[in-house]
Amino acid sequence: MKLETKSPHTRQANGERWPVAILAATGAVGQAFIRTLKDHPWFEIAEVAASERSVGKTYKDAAKWMEGELPPDVAELVLTACDPSQVKSPIIFSALDADVATVAEAAFARAGRVVFSNAKSYRMEPDVPLVIPEVNGDHLALLTHQRKVRGWTGAIITNANCSTTVVAAALAPLHEKFGVNRLFVSTMQAISGAGYPGVPSLDILGNVVPYIGDEEPKIERELAKMLGKFDNDKIVHAPMIVTAHTSRVAVENGHTAVMSVGFDRKPTVEEAIETLRNWKGYAPSLGLPTSPEHAVFVHDGLDQPQPRRHVMMGRGMTTSVGRVRECKMLDLRMVAMSHNVIRGAAGGSVLNAEVLVSNGFVQETVNQ
Ligand code: NAP
Repeated sequence: MKLETKSPHTRQANGERWPVAILAATGAVGQAFIRTLKDHPWFEIAEVAASERSVGKTYKDAAKWMEGELPPDVAELVLTACDPSQVKSPIIFSALDADVATVAEAAFARAGRVVFSNAKSYRMEPDVPLVIPEVNGDHLALLTHQRKVRGWTGAIITNANCSTTVVAAALAPLHEKFGVNRLFVSTMQAISGAGYPGVPSLDILGNVVPYIGDEEPKIERELAKMLGKFDNDKIVHAPMIVTAHTSRVAVENGHTAVMSVGFDRKPTVEEAIETLRNWKGYAPSLGLPTSPEHAVFVHDGLDQPQPRRHVMMGRGMTTSVGRVRECKMLDLRMVAMSHNVIRGAAGGSVLNAEVLVSNGFVQETVNQ
């Protein structure tokens, strides 16, 4: 599979859009997919699916719509079950939870669909790419191997956990140049990360909850895969020691991560900032409909970044970094923040899909 950007494929060139389906379309991530895909130049929401509770209802009756205007054409779509016999689109955006995703996403991949998953089920499988396009879009080349070993005519591509996404995007530029080998990270995670209705108000208002189930192991295992190298049908994980602490805080959107970082070759603060500012990331992921102008943006203010002020930078796709400074324990300290539901979920999946449409993978899948 070639990964260079080609001119947009025949469908886009003919002014047609790809029909796409959203699984678990009624939840927090499903709704973010609808907002991200509204007016998308290449994709058109053709189908929505959710649990038995919603099947047979129109979207407007089944979902408690949370933000902005519900697109009128989506409002009238009737929800189906998350089953490839009922959902026909070639591109599947999945916001399913892991307990359902494990079976359902494999069924779609087996049925020849290209599935963009937000669940943890397949992230650590050695033949499944775990991708932030700018960070490790080259890992998408694993898909050829995935098909060979699984016998699928479709494919599964995963996003990282939303807190790993913040950390991986902020560290990727520095890792490429200076080799991150140790990381202490503590997160302050938004309530929208727990879905809807999420954390009870009496547990979170005026409070910090210093535990999020399975979140610390996810950061510790996913980061090394994402910052690893694609080598001959496998990902060689980056050799690094990661220790994570995760907390839920009373912020609506935007996960913040404070980090102390150790390097193979310690950069000065100025070198680190310059590297972060000049970083573009994996070339084929740039200039696509969902790509932000800056995948990583370095703030100068001593009190930045802040979720309330900066979470929507780059339409929610920019990772904000600030307070890069010396660390007495490891080499450097810094803060990073990004939108957990957009960059950390729906927007990340849509950008993955744009990379695979623009390089012809989706077209090849549909034609085979
Ligand atoms: P959520 O708001 O609780 O939504 C759950 C969704 O799953 C609803 O659409 C629900 O449909 C559907 N569902 C529940 N049981 C189902 C079943 N048996 N079959 C089919 N659909 C079913 O959760 P969320 O925050 O959107 O999270 C969804 C996934 O994304 C999870 O895997 C989560 O870990 C991951 N994720 C979330 C975030 C975030 O910031 N929220 C970020 C990254 C990844 P009904 O309305 O019909 O019940």
